[in-house]
Formats: sequence, C-alpha cells, structure tokens
Amino acid sequence: METKRFYQQRLDEWVEESRKQAYKGRVAEYIPGLAAAPQHALGIALWGTDGQFFQSGDTDLHFTMQSISKVFSLLLALMDSGEKSVFQKVGMEPTGDDFNSILKLELVDPGKPFNPFINAGAIVIASLIQGDGPDEKSERLLQFIRHLAHDNRLDYNEAVYESERETAHRNRSIAYYLKDNGVLEDDVEETLEVYFRQCSIVVNCKQLAHMALVLASDGVDPVTKQQVIPRRYVQIAKSFMVTCGMYNASGEFAIEVGLPAKSGVSGGILSVVPGKWGIGIIGPALNSKGNSVAGVQLLRHLSQDWDWSIF
Ligand code: GLN
Repeated sequence: METKRFYQQRLDEWVEESRKQAYKGRVAEYIPGLAAAPQHALGIALWGTDGQFFQSGDTDLHFTMQSISKVFSLLLALMDSGEKSVFQKVGMEPTGDDFNSILKLELVDPGKPFNPFINAGAIVIASLIQGDGPDEKSERLLQFIRHLAHDNRLDYNEAVYESERETAHRNRSIAYYLKDNGVLEDDVEETLEVYFRQCSIVVNCKQLAHMALVLASDGVDPVTKQQVIPRRYVQIAKSFMVTCGMYNASGEFAIEVGLPAKSGVSGGILSVVPGKWGIGIIGPALNSKGNSVAGVQLLRHLSQDWDWSIF
C-alpha cells in the first residue's frame, strides 16, 4: 500500500511539472472541434498487466483518437487481410517527413506509402478492412476498439467527423493519387469516410490505457484471458510505434523515452511498457512535430525515473 501511495505521489508530481510545459505548444486548429481543447490540460492513466491502475490529472477529458486510431486499423487490416496483402500495399519504413506529406509518394514503388502511420499509408489500410461498404468497415473498427477499451459506449464525435471531411483537401489529394497508381483499389470517397470516422472516435485516457494494455499483454485481454489479437500482429504494431509512432520525432522519442507509442493531433498518446503497462495520455498542446508537448515531457520523466526504456 505504501508503494502504491509513493507511485501515485510521483505520478502527480510529474503531471504537475510537465503540465507547465504546455505553454510551449499549440492546440491543433485546423478544425473547430480540436481548436476548442484546453491548452493546459494533462491527464494520464496506466493499467498494469497485474491489474493495478493509476491515474492523474485530467483523465475525464474526452478527445478524438485521430492518428492513434491508425494502430487499430492496422491491426484489424492485418487480422482481416493477412500480413502479405497488407505489406504488398504499404511499406515498413519511416519517412522522416510530416505525417500528411505527399513528398515521397512518387519515389520508390510509385504510390506505395512508406508505412501505415503516415496518412497515405493509413488511407490504404482503411481500404483493407473487410466489410460491405464504408459503414460496415467503420462499424467493425469501432466494435474492435470498443472491445479493447472494454467500453461499448465509445462513439464518434460527429462535429469533428464533419469538419474533418470538409477540410480534407490534402488527404483527398493523397487518396486520389493512391487511386491513380492502383495502390488504392476501393472507391476514394468511401475509403476516406472510413478514415475520417476512425479519426473521430472519442475516448478518454483511461479507455486509451486499456487498449494499450492489450498490446502490453501481447494481444491477450487481461480480463478474459483471451487472445484477441495474434501476438505477431501486436509485434508488428509495436515495431511501427517505435519507428514511426511519433511521426518524424520517433528517433528522438526512442532515445528520450524508449517506448512504443502513437500520438494523435488531438494531443493523445497511447504507449506501452511491454509486459507491464498500458498507458493513455492527453495533453492537447502540440509541439512543432505534432506531438503533445506536456505528454512527451511526462513520458520522458516517467520512463527515466522508473527505468521503462525497452532499449
Ligand atoms: N485526422 C487527422 C488527419 O488526417 C489525423 C492526423 C493526426 O492525428 N496526425 O490529418
């Protein structure tokens, strides 16, 4: 009990310390649903594989998953279509460019996105989820995420979805380019609908931490003890989280924090201490690379203090 109190105190201290860094960042403003987020919010939840639970800060704040959803669309596409089909269409390498960059699409295999976490790759992945049309594909992904979060109430933020769709000129141009090259076989607008839907799924960091817990447990749901995701696919997802999960700051993050993680433009971060912890964080102010300023700072403190780096 004493130890639990000690960890809680440290966690609270690091949250308050890291929260101070939020002024250095900016909340994403490209759609109104994101611009309204509180700049100085910071919350973290941790689920242990042994059943322990910690939380601190603004853990009830709701936010949209945005790019964090790319981890789960990748997992579902792998489960639906298999490793071979997925990697015929999407590569395995980091780009070093912004997440929505179109720069490298014309390089190597024309049109084949470098990895599943840049927007181009995630759009192709959305098309590899099985289902009769965008509604069924989106529904299957939502159910998958609900299952991992252990919460059937998870749903979309319709306003974020709508404005995402209206302002998606760049994502639309990426998708049409992919279609032109034959990498995207499905209808462009239908595929984008699945992508915008997944970005607009609303969570809090406790739910995020529970999803991360399944990854920390190699795909086993720690409550039901069922293998809900094949271990190999979790291994693939975690590898991408290390190499591309924090966009083009993934190298620095590996050195500073050393954990598989995926961030989103709403300021969320999902991270995994393999075999030990599933972590969910929200801190809406972003640095120039699009990662939560306070969230990264918090993970840096915790990882260094509690010796979490996998390297
Ligand atoms: N919806 C966002 C987009 O496609 C997601 C990007 C992100 O979180 N980095 O632009």
